[in-house]
Amino acid sequence: MNSKLILYNTLTRTKQEFEPINPPHVGMYVCGPTVYGDPHLGHARPAITFDLLFRYLKAEGYKVRYVRNITDVGHLEHDADEGEDKIEKKARLEQLEPMEVANYYTRRYHDAMRELNVLPPSIEPSASGHIIEQIEFTKRILDAGFAYESNGSIYFDVEKYNEKYHYGKLSGRNLDDILTNTRELDGQEDKRHSYDFALWKKASPEHIMRWPSPWSDGFPGWHMECSAMSTKYLGREFDIHGGGMDLMFPHHECEIAQSTAALGHDSARFWVHNNMITINGKKMGKSLGNFITLEEVFTGSHKLLAQAYSPMTVRFFILQAHYRSTLDFSNEALQAAEKGLDRLMKGIEALGKVKPSEVSTVKPSELAERCEAAMADDLNSPMVISALFDWVRIFNQLEEGQQKITAEDLESLRATVNRWAFDILGLRDEKAQSSAGDMVSPLVEMLLDMRMEAKAAKNWALSDQIRDKLTAIGIRVKDRKDGYDWEIE
Ligand code: ZN
Repeated sequence: MNSKLILYNTLTRTKQEFEPINPPHVGMYVCGPTVYGDPHLGHARPAITFDLLFRYLKAEGYKVRYVRNITDVGHLEHDADEGEDKIEKKARLEQLEPMEVANYYTRRYHDAMRELNVLPPSIEPSASGHIIEQIEFTKRILDAGFAYESNGSIYFDVEKYNEKYHYGKLSGRNLDDILTNTRELDGQEDKRHSYDFALWKKASPEHIMRWPSPWSDGFPGWHMECSAMSTKYLGREFDIHGGGMDLMFPHHECEIAQSTAALGHDSARFWVHNNMITINGKKMGKSLGNFITLEEVFTGSHKLLAQAYSPMTVRFFILQAHYRSTLDFSNEALQAAEKGLDRLMKGIEALGKVKPSEVSTVKPSELAERCEAAMADDLNSPMVISALFDWVRIFNQLEEGQQKITAEDLESLRATVNRWAFDILGLRDEKAQSSAGDMVSPLVEMLLDMRMEAKAAKNWALSDQIRDKLTAIGIRVKDRKDGYDWEIE
Protein backbone atom coordinates (compact mmCIF):
# COMPACT_ATOMS: atom_id res chain seq x y z
CA MET A 1 0.00 0.00 0.00
CA ASN A 2 2.05 2.83 -1.39
CA SER A 3 -0.01 5.90 -0.86
CA LYS A 4 -2.99 7.15 1.02
CA LEU A 5 -6.01 6.95 -1.23
CA ILE A 6 -8.28 9.94 -1.02
CA LEU A 7 -11.79 9.22 -2.26
CA TYR A 8 -14.74 11.52 -2.70
CA ASN A 9 -17.57 10.23 -0.53
CA THR A 10 -21.00 11.20 -1.85
CA LEU A 11 -22.47 10.62 1.60
CA THR A 12 -20.35 13.30 3.30
CA ARG A 13 -19.76 15.37 0.14
CA THR A 14 -16.07 15.54 1.00
CA LYS A 15 -12.87 13.89 -0.06
CA GLN A 16 -11.86 11.47 2.67
CA GLU A 17 -8.91 9.26 3.33
CA PHE A 18 -9.86 5.71 2.50
CA GLU A 19 -9.20 3.26 5.31
CA PRO A 20 -10.77 -0.16 5.12
CA ILE A 21 -12.69 -1.47 8.12
CA ASN A 22 -10.61 -4.64 8.21
CA PRO A 23 -7.37 -4.14 6.23
CA PRO A 24 -6.03 -5.59 4.01
CA HIS A 25 -9.59 -6.69 3.13
CA VAL A 26 -11.86 -4.36 1.19
CA GLY A 27 -15.55 -5.02 0.59
CA MET A 28 -17.00 -3.27 -2.43
CA TYR A 29 -20.55 -3.47 -3.75
CA VAL A 30 -21.55 -1.98 -7.10
CA CYS A 31 -25.04 -1.93 -8.60
CA GLY A 32 -24.83 -3.99 -11.76
CA PRO A 33 -26.92 -4.15 -14.92
CA THR A 34 -30.59 -4.85 -15.42
CA VAL A 35 -30.69 -7.57 -18.02
CA TYR A 36 -33.58 -7.02 -20.42
CA GLY A 37 -31.68 -5.47 -23.32
CA ASP A 38 -28.33 -5.28 -25.05
CA PRO A 39 -25.49 -3.68 -23.09
CA HIS A 40 -25.15 -0.04 -24.16
CA LEU A 41 -22.84 2.90 -23.71
CA GLY A 42 -24.44 3.74 -20.38
CA HIS A 43 -23.18 0.40 -19.03
CA ALA A 44 -19.57 1.08 -19.99
CA ARG A 45 -18.84 3.96 -17.66
CA PRO A 46 -19.77 2.49 -14.25
CA ALA A 47 -18.23 -0.85 -15.26
CA ILE A 48 -14.92 0.79 -16.22
CA THR A 49 -14.91 3.23 -13.28
CA PHE A 50 -15.27 0.48 -10.70
CA ASP A 51 -12.96 -1.82 -12.63
CA LEU A 52 -10.34 0.92 -12.31
CA LEU A 53 -10.92 1.14 -8.55
CA PHE A 54 -10.89 -2.68 -8.23
CA ARG A 55 -7.65 -2.98 -10.21
CA TYR A 56 -6.01 -0.11 -8.31
CA LEU A 57 -6.91 -1.46 -4.87
CA LYS A 58 -5.59 -4.89 -5.85
CA ALA A 59 -2.39 -3.40 -7.25
CA GLU A 60 -1.96 -1.57 -3.94
CA GLY A 61 -2.03 -4.89 -2.13
CA TYR A 62 -5.60 -4.97 -0.83
CA LYS A 63 -7.62 -8.17 -0.90
CA VAL A 64 -10.80 -6.97 -2.52
CA ARG A 65 -14.13 -8.75 -2.48
CA TYR A 66 -16.00 -7.06 -5.29
CA VAL A 67 -19.71 -7.84 -5.49
CA ARG A 68 -21.68 -6.67 -8.53
CA ASN A 69 -25.26 -7.81 -8.87
CA ILE A 70 -27.44 -8.78 -11.81
CA THR A 71 -30.94 -7.31 -11.66
CA ASP A 72 -33.08 -9.97 -13.26
CA VAL A 73 -36.33 -9.52 -11.37
CA GLY A 74 -38.74 -6.88 -10.25
CA HIS A 75 -37.25 -3.96 -12.14
CA LEU A 76 -40.31 -1.99 -12.98
CA GLU A 77 -40.97 0.70 -15.55
CA HIS A 78 -40.95 3.67 -13.23
CA ASP A 79 -38.93 4.85 -10.32
CA ALA A 80 -42.08 4.12 -8.41
CA ASP A 81 -43.36 0.62 -7.93
CA GLU A 82 -45.92 0.41 -10.69
CA GLY A 83 -45.59 -0.55 -14.30
CA GLU A 84 -44.61 -3.63 -16.17
CA ASP A 85 -41.57 -5.75 -15.49
CA LYS A 86 -39.36 -5.27 -18.55
CA ILE A 87 -37.92 -8.76 -18.53
CA GLU A 88 -41.39 -10.18 -18.40
CA LYS A 89 -42.64 -7.93 -21.18
CA LYS A 90 -39.77 -9.01 -23.44
CA ALA A 91 -40.36 -12.65 -22.56
CA ARG A 92 -44.00 -12.43 -23.49
CA LEU A 93 -43.33 -10.62 -26.77
CA GLU A 94 -40.69 -13.15 -27.81
CA GLN A 95 -42.46 -16.17 -26.29
CA LEU A 96 -39.56 -17.00 -24.02
CA GLU A 97 -39.15 -18.01 -20.43
CA PRO A 98 -38.25 -14.83 -18.47
CA MET A 99 -35.04 -16.52 -17.28
CA GLU A 100 -34.10 -17.15 -20.94
CA VAL A 101 -34.26 -13.41 -21.55
CA ALA A 102 -32.30 -12.58 -18.40
CA ASN A 103 -29.59 -15.17 -19.08
CA TYR A 104 -29.25 -14.18 -22.72
CA TYR A 105 -28.64 -10.53 -21.87
CA THR A 106 -26.40 -11.46 -18.95
CA ARG A 107 -24.17 -13.31 -21.42
CA ARG A 108 -24.27 -10.36 -23.81
CA TYR A 109 -23.23 -8.11 -20.94
CA HIS A 110 -20.36 -10.43 -19.98
CA ASP A 111 -19.15 -10.55 -23.60
CA ALA A 112 -19.12 -6.77 -23.84
CA MET A 113 -17.31 -6.46 -20.49
CA ARG A 114 -14.66 -8.93 -21.64
CA GLU A 115 -14.11 -6.83 -24.76
CA LEU A 116 -13.71 -3.72 -22.62
CA ASN A 117 -11.19 -5.64 -20.48
CA VAL A 118 -13.38 -5.21 -17.40
CA LEU A 119 -12.41 -7.86 -14.87
CA PRO A 120 -15.22 -10.06 -13.57
CA PRO A 121 -16.25 -9.21 -9.99
CA SER A 122 -15.48 -11.66 -7.18
CA ILE A 123 -19.16 -12.46 -6.72
CA GLU A 124 -21.97 -11.74 -9.18
CA PRO A 125 -25.23 -12.57 -7.40
CA SER A 126 -28.56 -12.39 -9.18
CA ALA A 127 -31.71 -11.03 -7.58
CA SER A 128 -33.70 -14.09 -8.65
CA GLY A 129 -31.22 -16.34 -6.83
CA HIS A 130 -31.66 -14.45 -3.57
CA ILE A 131 -35.41 -14.31 -3.01
CA ILE A 132 -35.16 -15.96 0.43
CA GLU A 133 -32.59 -13.41 1.61
CA GLN A 134 -34.83 -10.59 0.38
CA ILE A 135 -37.83 -12.00 2.22
CA GLU A 136 -35.72 -12.31 5.39
CA PHE A 137 -34.49 -8.74 5.03
CA THR A 138 -38.05 -7.52 4.56
CA LYS A 139 -39.05 -9.35 7.74
CA ARG A 140 -36.31 -7.56 9.68
CA ILE A 141 -37.62 -4.18 8.52
CA LEU A 142 -41.18 -5.19 9.46
CA ASP A 143 -39.98 -6.37 12.87
CA ALA A 144 -38.18 -3.08 13.42
CA GLY A 145 -41.45 -1.29 12.70
CA PHE A 146 -40.45 0.57 9.54
CA ALA A 147 -42.72 -1.22 7.07
CA TYR A 148 -46.39 -2.15 6.78
CA GLU A 149 -48.45 -4.73 4.95
CA SER A 150 -51.19 -3.71 2.59
CA ASN A 151 -53.15 -6.20 0.45
CA GLY A 152 -50.31 -8.71 0.34
CA SER A 153 -47.63 -6.12 -0.47
CA ILE A 154 -45.08 -4.72 1.98
CA TYR A 155 -44.18 -1.03 1.83
CA PHE A 156 -41.42 0.90 3.52
CA ASP A 157 -42.81 3.53 5.89
CA VAL A 158 -40.74 6.52 4.84
CA GLU A 159 -42.36 8.97 7.25
CA LYS A 160 -41.81 6.75 10.28
CA TYR A 161 -38.22 6.14 9.24
CA ASN A 162 -37.66 9.84 8.74
CA GLU A 163 -38.73 10.55 12.33
CA LYS A 164 -35.73 8.62 13.58
CA TYR A 165 -33.26 8.86 10.69
CA HIS A 166 -32.90 11.15 7.69
CA TYR A 167 -34.50 9.88 4.50
CA GLY A 168 -32.73 11.81 1.73
CA LYS A 169 -29.31 12.17 3.32
CA LEU A 170 -27.40 10.78 0.34
CA SER A 171 -29.07 12.92 -2.30
CA GLY A 172 -29.33 15.91 0.03
CA ARG A 173 -33.11 16.08 0.03
CA ASN A 174 -35.72 16.29 2.72
CA LEU A 175 -39.14 14.74 2.82
CA ASP A 176 -40.95 17.91 1.70
CA ASP A 177 -38.87 18.15 -1.50
CA ILE A 178 -39.47 14.50 -2.15
CA LEU A 179 -43.19 14.83 -1.61
CA THR A 180 -43.54 17.72 -4.05
CA ASN A 181 -41.52 15.81 -6.64
CA THR A 182 -43.28 12.48 -6.37
CA ARG A 183 -45.86 11.73 -8.99
CA GLU A 184 -49.09 10.15 -7.93
CA LEU A 185 -49.58 7.12 -10.13
CA ASP A 186 -52.52 4.85 -10.63
CA GLY A 187 -52.61 1.70 -8.59
CA GLN A 188 -50.82 3.19 -5.62
CA GLU A 189 -53.83 3.16 -3.34
CA ASP A 190 -52.19 0.40 -1.28
CA LYS A 191 -49.54 2.82 -0.04
CA ARG A 192 -50.00 5.25 2.81
CA HIS A 193 -47.86 7.87 1.08
CA SER A 194 -46.69 8.31 -2.48
CA TYR A 195 -43.04 8.25 -1.37
CA ASP A 196 -43.36 4.88 0.36
CA PHE A 197 -41.71 2.17 -1.71
CA ALA A 198 -42.32 -1.54 -2.10
CA LEU A 199 -40.21 -4.12 -0.31
CA TRP A 200 -42.46 -6.90 -1.59
CA LYS A 201 -45.14 -6.69 -4.26
CA LYS A 202 -48.07 -9.02 -4.59
CA ALA A 203 -48.12 -10.30 -8.17
CA SER A 204 -51.14 -9.68 -10.35
CA PRO A 205 -52.57 -12.88 -11.91
CA GLU A 206 -50.79 -12.33 -15.25
CA HIS A 207 -47.37 -11.74 -13.65
CA ILE A 208 -45.11 -14.72 -14.49
CA MET A 209 -42.09 -14.04 -12.28
CA ARG A 210 -43.40 -14.78 -8.81
CA TRP A 211 -42.33 -16.48 -5.63
CA PRO A 212 -44.15 -17.50 -2.46
CA SER A 213 -43.71 -15.35 0.64
CA PRO A 214 -45.48 -15.04 4.02
CA TRP A 215 -47.55 -12.18 2.57
CA SER A 216 -48.43 -13.20 -0.99
CA ASP A 217 -47.14 -14.80 -4.15
CA GLY A 218 -45.13 -11.96 -5.57
CA PHE A 219 -41.70 -10.50 -6.09
CA PRO A 220 -39.28 -8.22 -4.23
CA GLY A 221 -39.06 -4.46 -4.79
CA TRP A 222 -36.09 -3.37 -6.86
CA HIS A 223 -34.11 -1.70 -4.05
CA MET A 224 -34.33 -4.75 -1.82
CA GLU A 225 -31.90 -6.96 -3.72
CA CYS A 226 -28.92 -4.67 -3.11
CA SER A 227 -29.54 -4.36 0.64
CA ALA A 228 -30.03 -8.12 0.99
CA MET A 229 -27.10 -9.21 -1.19
CA SER A 230 -24.56 -6.65 0.04
CA THR A 231 -25.30 -7.69 3.64
CA LYS A 232 -25.09 -11.38 2.76
CA TYR A 233 -21.71 -11.19 1.04
CA LEU A 234 -20.01 -8.20 2.68
CA GLY A 235 -21.52 -8.11 6.14
CA ARG A 236 -23.47 -5.51 8.09
CA GLU A 237 -20.81 -2.92 7.45
CA PHE A 238 -18.57 -2.70 4.41
CA ASP A 239 -16.18 -0.27 2.77
CA ILE A 240 -17.44 0.96 -0.60
CA HIS A 241 -20.78 1.12 -2.37
CA GLY A 242 -20.67 2.30 -5.95
CA GLY A 243 -22.89 2.98 -8.93
CA GLY A 244 -23.89 5.58 -11.47
CA MET A 245 -25.11 8.98 -10.31
CA ASP A 246 -28.50 8.23 -11.83
CA LEU A 247 -28.99 5.57 -9.15
CA MET A 248 -28.45 7.94 -6.24
CA PHE A 249 -32.13 8.70 -5.96
CA PRO A 250 -34.29 6.81 -5.34
CA HIS A 251 -32.35 3.54 -5.56
CA HIS A 252 -29.40 4.21 -3.26
CA GLU A 253 -31.42 6.40 -0.94
CA CYS A 254 -33.85 3.51 -0.49
CA GLU A 255 -31.01 1.04 0.00
CA ILE A 256 -29.62 3.19 2.81
CA ALA A 257 -33.06 3.46 4.40
CA GLN A 258 -33.66 -0.30 4.19
CA SER A 259 -30.26 -1.22 5.60
CA THR A 260 -30.47 1.35 8.37
CA ALA A 261 -34.00 0.27 9.27
CA ALA A 262 -33.00 -3.39 9.44
CA LEU A 263 -29.55 -3.08 11.00
CA GLY A 264 -29.79 0.12 13.01
CA HIS A 265 -26.87 1.76 11.21
CA ASP A 266 -25.42 2.57 7.78
CA SER A 267 -23.94 -0.30 5.79
CA ALA A 268 -21.52 1.37 3.43
CA ARG A 269 -18.77 3.73 4.63
CA PHE A 270 -18.01 5.25 1.23
CA TRP A 271 -20.55 5.96 -1.49
CA VAL A 272 -18.85 6.46 -4.83
CA HIS A 273 -20.79 7.62 -7.90
CA ASN A 274 -19.64 7.97 -11.47
CA ASN A 275 -21.06 10.74 -13.63
CA MET A 276 -23.01 10.01 -16.80
CA ILE A 277 -22.17 9.80 -20.49
CA THR A 278 -24.01 12.23 -22.74
CA ILE A 279 -24.18 11.93 -26.52
CA ASN A 280 -23.48 15.12 -28.45
CA GLY A 281 -24.45 17.01 -25.32
CA LYS A 282 -27.73 15.17 -24.78
CA LYS A 283 -28.78 12.56 -22.29
CA MET A 284 -28.95 9.11 -23.89
CA GLY A 285 -32.46 7.78 -24.33
CA LYS A 286 -34.43 5.51 -26.62
CA SER A 287 -36.95 8.26 -27.36
CA LEU A 288 -34.17 10.66 -28.45
CA GLY A 289 -32.82 8.26 -31.09
CA ASN A 290 -29.34 8.45 -29.55
CA PHE A 291 -29.39 5.17 -27.71
CA ILE A 292 -26.22 3.32 -28.76
CA THR A 293 -25.43 -0.28 -27.82
CA LEU A 294 -21.84 -1.34 -27.27
CA GLU A 295 -22.05 -3.67 -30.24
CA GLU A 296 -23.08 -0.73 -32.42
CA VAL A 297 -20.08 1.22 -31.12
CA PHE A 298 -17.67 -1.65 -31.79
CA THR A 299 -19.03 -2.21 -35.31
CA GLY A 300 -19.87 1.39 -36.21
CA SER A 301 -23.44 0.44 -37.11
CA HIS A 302 -25.41 3.40 -35.76
CA LYS A 303 -26.40 6.48 -37.68
CA LEU A 304 -24.65 8.78 -35.21
CA LEU A 305 -21.31 7.00 -35.60
CA ALA A 306 -18.87 8.01 -38.33
CA GLN A 307 -16.90 4.79 -37.89
CA ALA A 308 -16.42 1.76 -35.63
CA TYR A 309 -14.59 2.38 -32.35
CA SER A 310 -12.67 -0.46 -30.78
CA PRO A 311 -13.36 -1.53 -27.20
CA MET A 312 -9.99 -0.13 -26.08
CA THR A 313 -10.74 3.22 -27.73
CA VAL A 314 -13.95 3.35 -25.68
CA ARG A 315 -12.10 2.35 -22.51
CA PHE A 316 -9.37 4.92 -23.10
CA PHE A 317 -11.96 7.60 -23.88
CA ILE A 318 -13.73 6.93 -20.58
CA LEU A 319 -10.47 6.88 -18.58
CA GLN A 320 -9.37 10.19 -20.13
CA ALA A 321 -12.11 11.91 -18.12
CA HIS A 322 -12.29 11.98 -14.35
CA TYR A 323 -15.09 9.65 -13.22
CA ARG A 324 -17.00 12.48 -11.51
CA SER A 325 -16.99 14.71 -14.61
CA THR A 326 -19.58 14.52 -17.33
CA LEU A 327 -18.32 12.90 -20.48
CA ASP A 328 -19.68 13.69 -23.91
CA PHE A 329 -19.57 11.00 -26.55
CA SER A 330 -18.96 12.47 -30.01
CA ASN A 331 -17.14 11.25 -33.11
CA GLU A 332 -14.47 13.95 -32.68
CA ALA A 333 -13.79 12.95 -29.07
CA LEU A 334 -13.67 9.26 -29.95
CA GLN A 335 -11.36 9.84 -32.89
CA ALA A 336 -9.06 11.86 -30.64
CA ALA A 337 -9.08 9.01 -28.09
CA GLU A 338 -8.24 6.53 -30.85
CA LYS A 339 -5.23 8.61 -31.88
CA GLY A 340 -4.12 9.13 -28.30
CA LEU A 341 -4.28 5.43 -27.51
CA ASP A 342 -2.34 4.62 -30.66
CA ARG A 343 0.38 7.10 -29.69
CA LEU A 344 0.62 5.60 -26.21
CA MET A 345 0.83 2.03 -27.53
CA LYS A 346 3.48 3.00 -30.09
CA GLY A 347 5.49 4.68 -27.34
CA ILE A 348 5.29 1.54 -25.20
CA GLU A 349 6.36 -0.50 -28.21
CA ALA A 350 9.37 1.82 -28.63
CA LEU A 351 10.24 1.33 -24.97
CA GLY A 352 10.29 -2.41 -25.65
CA LYS A 353 13.10 -1.89 -28.18
CA VAL A 354 15.33 0.29 -25.99
CA LYS A 355 18.87 -1.04 -25.38
CA PRO A 356 20.42 -0.36 -21.97
CA SER A 357 23.47 1.87 -21.48
CA GLU A 358 26.07 2.37 -18.74
CA VAL A 359 24.36 5.47 -17.38
CA SER A 360 20.83 6.86 -17.02
CA THR A 361 19.77 10.33 -18.10
CA VAL A 362 16.16 9.70 -17.02
CA LYS A 363 14.58 8.87 -13.65
CA PRO A 364 11.85 6.20 -13.87
CA SER A 365 10.76 6.89 -10.29
CA GLU A 366 9.43 10.26 -11.46
CA LEU A 367 6.85 8.58 -13.66
CA ALA A 368 5.87 6.14 -10.93
CA GLU A 369 5.43 8.94 -8.41
CA ARG A 370 3.34 11.07 -10.74
CA CYS A 371 0.99 8.18 -11.56
CA GLU A 372 0.73 7.17 -7.93
CA ALA A 373 -0.08 10.69 -6.76
CA ALA A 374 -2.69 11.20 -9.47
CA MET A 375 -4.49 7.95 -8.78
CA ALA A 376 -4.44 8.39 -5.01
CA ASP A 377 -6.17 11.74 -5.53
CA ASP A 378 -9.69 10.42 -6.07
CA LEU A 379 -8.76 8.15 -8.99
CA ASN A 380 -7.50 10.85 -11.30
CA SER A 381 -7.00 8.63 -14.34
CA PRO A 382 -6.71 11.58 -16.79
CA MET A 383 -3.63 12.75 -14.88
CA VAL A 384 -2.17 9.24 -15.00
CA ILE A 385 -2.65 9.24 -18.76
CA SER A 386 -1.11 12.66 -19.11
CA ALA A 387 1.96 11.50 -17.14
CA LEU A 388 2.26 8.49 -19.48
CA PHE A 389 1.94 10.80 -22.50
CA ASP A 390 4.75 13.01 -21.25
CA TRP A 391 6.90 9.91 -21.03
CA VAL A 392 6.05 8.67 -24.52
CA ARG A 393 8.36 11.42 -25.76
CA ILE A 394 11.09 10.07 -23.47
CA PHE A 395 10.50 6.47 -24.62
CA ASN A 396 11.04 7.61 -28.21
CA GLN A 397 14.19 9.53 -27.27
CA LEU A 398 15.50 6.44 -25.47
CA GLU A 399 14.85 4.31 -28.51
CA GLU A 400 16.62 6.79 -30.76
CA GLY A 401 19.57 7.05 -28.36
CA GLN A 402 19.02 10.72 -27.46
CA GLN A 403 18.59 9.66 -23.83
CA LYS A 404 20.28 6.82 -21.96
CA ILE A 405 19.14 4.33 -19.37
CA THR A 406 20.83 1.55 -17.36
CA ALA A 407 19.54 -2.03 -17.49
CA GLU A 408 18.23 -1.75 -13.95
CA ASP A 409 16.39 1.52 -14.62
CA LEU A 410 15.01 0.14 -17.87
CA GLU A 411 13.55 -2.82 -16.05
CA SER A 412 11.96 -0.59 -13.47
CA LEU A 413 10.60 1.78 -16.14
CA ARG A 414 9.00 -1.11 -18.04
CA ALA A 415 7.50 -2.44 -14.81
CA THR A 416 6.05 1.00 -14.04
CA VAL A 417 4.52 1.26 -17.50
CA ASN A 418 3.06 -2.24 -17.25
CA ARG A 419 1.62 -1.52 -13.85
CA TRP A 420 -0.10 1.70 -14.89
CA ALA A 421 -1.05 1.20 -18.53
CA PHE A 422 -2.02 -2.48 -18.40
CA ASP A 423 -2.64 -3.61 -14.81
CA ILE A 424 -4.39 -0.52 -13.43
CA LEU A 425 -5.80 1.38 -16.42
CA GLY A 426 -6.56 -2.05 -17.90
CA LEU A 427 -5.55 -1.13 -21.46
CA ARG A 428 -4.70 -3.76 -24.00
CA ASP A 429 -2.64 -3.49 -27.18
CA GLU A 430 -5.35 -4.35 -29.70
CA LYS A 431 -3.14 -3.83 -32.74
CA ALA A 432 -0.58 -6.33 -31.49
CA GLN A 433 -3.39 -8.80 -30.89
CA SER A 434 -5.22 -8.40 -34.14
CA SER A 435 -2.07 -8.76 -36.23
CA ALA A 436 -1.80 -12.31 -34.93
CA GLY A 437 -2.57 -15.05 -37.44
CA ASP A 438 -5.45 -16.39 -35.41
CA MET A 439 -7.66 -13.62 -36.80
CA VAL A 440 -7.43 -14.99 -40.34
CA SER A 441 -9.54 -18.13 -39.92
CA PRO A 442 -12.63 -16.49 -38.43
CA LEU A 443 -12.53 -13.82 -41.13
CA VAL A 444 -12.22 -16.29 -44.01
CA GLU A 445 -14.97 -18.40 -42.52
CA MET A 446 -17.22 -15.40 -42.12
CA LEU A 447 -16.78 -14.57 -45.82
CA LEU A 448 -17.38 -18.16 -46.85
CA ASP A 449 -20.53 -18.32 -44.74
CA MET A 450 -21.73 -15.20 -46.51
CA ARG A 451 -20.92 -16.90 -49.80
CA MET A 452 -23.05 -19.91 -48.81
CA GLU A 453 -25.90 -17.55 -48.04
CA ALA A 454 -25.44 -15.85 -51.41
CA LYS A 455 -25.56 -19.24 -53.13
CA ALA A 456 -28.67 -20.24 -51.22
CA ALA A 457 -30.27 -17.02 -52.43
CA LYS A 458 -29.09 -17.86 -55.98
CA ASN A 459 -26.92 -14.76 -56.01
CA TRP A 460 -24.25 -16.44 -58.17
CA ALA A 461 -22.50 -13.19 -59.03
CA LEU A 462 -21.78 -12.38 -55.39
CA SER A 463 -20.83 -15.98 -54.62
CA ASP A 464 -18.27 -16.02 -57.48
CA GLN A 465 -16.97 -12.61 -56.53
CA ILE A 466 -16.19 -13.72 -52.96
CA ARG A 467 -14.42 -16.87 -54.22
CA ASP A 468 -12.40 -14.95 -56.84
CA LYS A 469 -11.30 -12.27 -54.41
CA LEU A 470 -10.18 -14.88 -51.88
CA THR A 471 -8.26 -16.72 -54.64
CA ALA A 472 -6.61 -13.45 -55.56
CA ILE A 473 -5.16 -13.07 -52.06
CA GLY A 474 -4.02 -16.69 -51.98
CA ILE A 475 -6.90 -18.51 -50.33
CA ARG A 476 -8.14 -21.52 -52.30
CA VAL A 477 -11.77 -22.51 -51.80
CA LYS A 478 -13.09 -26.01 -52.50
CA ASP A 479 -16.83 -26.58 -52.51
CA ARG A 480 -18.22 -29.64 -50.84
CA LYS A 481 -21.73 -31.00 -50.86
CA ASP A 482 -22.56 -29.67 -47.40
CA GLY A 483 -20.20 -26.71 -47.19
CA TYR A 484 -16.65 -25.84 -48.09
CA ASP A 485 -12.96 -26.42 -47.44
CA TRP A 486 -10.32 -23.79 -47.72
CA GLU A 487 -6.58 -23.51 -47.50
CA ILE A 488 -3.90 -20.88 -47.80
CA GLU A 489 -1.82 -21.51 -50.91
ZN1 ZN B 1 -28.35 -1.39 -6.22
